[in-house]
Amino acid sequence: MLGAIVGDIVGSRFEFNNHRSKEFKLFDQACSITDDSIMTLAVAQALMETEKSMEPKRAYRFTDDYHRLLGQLTVKCMQEIGRKYPNCGYGSRFACWMFSDKPKPYNSFGNGAAMRISPAALAARSESEATRLSATITAVTHNHPEGIKGAEATVLAIYMAGHGCSKEEIRDRISKDYYPLDFSIEQIRPTYQFNAICQESVPQAITAFLESASFEDAIRTAISLGGDSDTIGAITGSIAEAYYGVPEEIGHKALSYLDPELRSVYDQWVEFTGRDGFGI
Ligand SMILES: [Mg+2]
Repeated sequence: MLGAIVGDIVGSRFEFNNHRSKEFKLFDQACSITDDSIMTLAVAQALMETEKSMEPKRAYRFTDDYHRLLGQLTVKCMQEIGRKYPNCGYGSRFACWMFSDKPKPYNSFGNGAAMRISPAALAARSESEATRLSATITAVTHNHPEGIKGAEATVLAIYMAGHGCSKEEIRDRISKDYYPLDFSIEQIRPTYQFNAICQESVPQAITAFLESASFEDAIRTAISLGGDSDTIGAITGSIAEAYYGVPEEIGHKALSYLDPELRSVYDQWVEFTGRDGFGI
């Protein structure tokens, strides 16, 4: 969550003006929050509202009732929160969905599936719970198999990173079950192009994390790749947060970009999960 917000804000000024080096100022006047942070917060809000409604029932996260409600509240929260911030870099089909009175999934495999999904990993108590939460949240828009897969690979990497797995274990699992990771960022950087689909963003974002030496280095590596910089930053940042924790100075600076309403969602999430994303 916080790592995704950091990556989004740091990458925001490079989305259409790529910076293919790790040397740059992390935060700048030109930085802002974009759709990646806003939809991440909306997913967090949907998870919190679902939990509150289902609270009295035991083992509820595996029931169909829970997942039906989570799907409905994901639509509600993404529309309600998104409509208050209408000009924040949404894809055109997502923007139509956000303003539709009868929103239907549109078979997307855009990388929006992965950039917003970190709260599912942070709320989950097991791998299987994480992937099922991911599928339910993702399917309200990105119901193409590659959309479901992009979100699930991201959630699994975050879950493993936050539960003591090594980078090698994460690399092996993602390679075996999701995407070949047979490249380095340095190898692909010269020819990597802007491509807002999961298959061309998620494996690259995971690799940026796997190659990193620290949270900050993960963000810098993700940005240095170019492409859809805020979204790749958000995906890499969400995994790096779970593995390293977000350094105090970087996290507080990122939170200063949130207005009081979005900050309130973040604060409620911290209370709900007992985790603020700082440190480990
Ligand atoms: Mg964006």
